[in-house]
Amino acid sequence: MKSSSPHKSVPRIIVIGAGAAGLPLVSTLGKALGKCASAEIILVDKNINHVWKPRLHEVASGALDEATDFINLPEHAEHYHYRFERGAVDRVDTEKRQITISEVNDESGNTTWPERKITYDHLVIAVGSRTNTWDIPDVDQHCFFLDGINHALSVRKRLTNIFLGAAKANRPTSIGIVGGGAAGVELCAEIARMAESISGTPLAKDPERKIQIHLIEGSEQLLPRLNQAYGEKFSSYMESLGIKLHLGFEVVKVTPDYILGYDGQTIPVDTMIWAGGILAPPWLAKIPGTATNAINQLTVDNRLRCNGVDRVYALGDCACVYDNGTEQLIPPRAQAAKQMADYLAQQLINSIHRTEDKSRFSYCDKGSLIAFSHYSSFGRVSSQLLGRTIAFEGAIAMLAYRWSYWQHHAAVRGYRAAIVHFLFKQLTKPKGLRLRLH
Ligand SMILES: Cc1cc2nc3c(=O)[nH]c(=O)nc-3n(C[C@H](O)[C@H](O)[C@H](O)COP(=O)(O)OP(=O)(O)OC[C@H]3O[C@@H](n4cnc5c(N)ncnc54)[C@H](O)[C@@H]3O)c2cc1C
Repeated sequence: MKSSSPHKSVPRIIVIGAGAAGLPLVSTLGKALGKCASAEIILVDKNINHVWKPRLHEVASGALDEATDFINLPEHAEHYHYRFERGAVDRVDTEKRQITISEVNDESGNTTWPERKITYDHLVIAVGSRTNTWDIPDVDQHCFFLDGINHALSVRKRLTNIFLGAAKANRPTSIGIVGGGAAGVELCAEIARMAESISGTPLAKDPERKIQIHLIEGSEQLLPRLNQAYGEKFSSYMESLGIKLHLGFEVVKVTPDYILGYDGQTIPVDTMIWAGGILAPPWLAKIPGTATNAINQLTVDNRLRCNGVDRVYALGDCACVYDNGTEQLIPPRAQAAKQMADYLAQQLINSIHRTEDKSRFSYCDKGSLIAFSHYSSFGRVSSQLLGRTIAFEGAIAMLAYRWSYWQHHAAVRGYRAAIVHFLFKQLTKPKGLRLRLH
């Protein structure tokens, strides 16, 4: 076991999690503090690559490319003046101010990164969340998930195999997606696109309908966080793509062959993907001195400091944050994660420079964007100037969706690299539909 003691000359900031919150945070801290050696910045992640989670469904469908869309963390660390440590953290000792990173083994079982204990002066927890299965029997056993890169790649492998198998053997196949939030809806549209690549005919127009896609949602509308009018609009759009909707369907059990509802109704499926609700990692509830809510999120104050412990912060999906001065919980979304990262970066920079900063975190809901693969997109933006919400769709919404991804790239790779990335993607974009076979 390797132990790493604090670097006494400068404060050490450890960030756990290189996701939508953690990676922009270390990018800013690395440039502002790491480069001039005002602080030592360490990023820990269980994965070696980063991909922006809102586009995981496109990794699953093969629309997003590992070679150009994944960010290699050790390489990123070199450019952004921080140290990268690979491994899963599962223990934090708040008295000793120390984290434990588990060992990492390669495919042959050889240890590539040993277990490490590292002390911190400031600790930021940004480990995100996974899908909540609500303790429904056998979901873990029979369903695929979209919680990370490896999950998305497993979904891609499975979908490719069943689609090609179904085409070759001329037999029907049925896919069930549970969860009618943004992730489930966007994933369904991507799967419809994959199905179209295989048959050459849009799913809705395929007379044989050998590929069936079922979208299952417990509440009576899709995207339950949005208002009913949007729910209805999205429902008719999904149906126009040939997706069968099951709204108000409360899943009580899954088996390898079907999904069972509360009222005894069954939906026969060969492949199930669970995409509903979030749950923060259970080990967070064991961090001494901290407080967590029912879904293991760490409760924080309005400066993102974990309640009950000193110099420990939480942000993104794993944090339970109330909007400044309200009872309103901030939703687990990428834009919230990024806003928290920007706020905390400034707080930490000021703290290291001993500049007083009493500002509080305040969330600004900039709206929502839903992309239905290459078919269409919908957007909703809150305009403070006009004092109302503006809805738009089609090419403008698609551009806005790409823009949000571009902004993430600019935040973690810099504007020049983001422009080059965007141009490269445009130039190498395949014409027509495609199915990635690897
Ligand atoms: C398919 C899908 C579509 C989505 N679409 C949208 C959308 O359109 N708009 C939107 O705003 N939001 C969307 N979201 C939600 C959004 O992705 C999350 O809210 C956001 O990624 C949260 O950021 P985060 O940094 O908290 O967590 P994440 O981005 O999940 O990052 C967590 C990081 O922590 C690492 N990690 C986890 N546990 C450990 C550990 N023990 N030790 C070390 N490292 C660890 C993980 O490897 C990961 O890199 C979507 C989510 C999904 C799954």
